[in-house]
Amino acid sequence: MKKIIGTILMIMVYVVLFPATPAHGSARDLKASIIIDDFGGGTGGVKQFLEGDIPITAAVMPFTPRAKEHAVWAHKNGIEVMVHLPMEPKKGKRSWLGPKPITVNLSTQEVRKRVEEAIDTVPYAKGMNNHMGSLAVENERIVREIVTIAKERRMYIVDSGTSPNSKFTALAKELGVPILSRDVFLDDISSAEHVRKQMSKLARITERKGTGIAIGHVGVSGNICSSGVFQSIGQFSQRGIKIVPVSQLLSKQMQEMYFHHF
Ligand SMILES: [Zn+2]
Repeated sequence: MKKIIGTILMIMVYVVLFPATPAHGSARDLKASIIIDDFGGGTGGVKQFLEGDIPITAAVMPFTPRAKEHAVWAHKNGIEVMVHLPMEPKKGKRSWLGPKPITVNLSTQEVRKRVEEAIDTVPYAKGMNNHMGSLAVENERIVREIVTIAKERRMYIVDSGTSPNSKFTALAKELGVPILSRDVFLDDISSAEHVRKQMSKLARITERKGTGIAIGHVGVSGNICSSGVFQSIGQFSQRGIKIVPVSQLLSKQMQEMYFHHF
């Protein structure tokens, strides 16, 4: 009998000392963001993401037929909006860029005009990330102008990570603009299984770093991306990771300085 009581006491002590819920999860405040690119045009996945219960961040391509409609829809449902700025890649079809992209042949003044117009066509945008852009993101003159405008408009930047030689991080740090970088692409291979695998990768990276950013897409294979995301979202709460809009990955101080006007 004594032995049994002893065992029960030991179990109780163990339970108090090592609770089943991962204490480090809540203590470390793990946060991940899921940016979904290419809103404004294609329809695949649009409704699923904008009407779903995951607080994704919607990156809307300016100058597309439904840019304003998608931005307003997202905002109405409490989903954070970003401008998804088309920038010139090293290779790829011109048509993938959409209208009025930022190309390296533009003058600095022309870049300013396009970026300002892009921001104006996407209401409620709090940040910007690049669509494609492997060539233009390496161009200091162009990136400096974009980052300067982000500073004037109090927007954060997410480097989509299309070139290892992107100038976004260095120039944003120089000019004091909040900058974050993508950790994972969710749908670089178009299958729900791959999306689920990449979602697990996002969870692992977030556990390691404290924060994580994934990028997926609406459009031709948007339904596959949304299926994969919704199928694998359960593990995040189980692992103590909160999905938040990108602005909430920034420090409290930066948030207050930047977004008090919203
Ligand atoms: Zn894109």
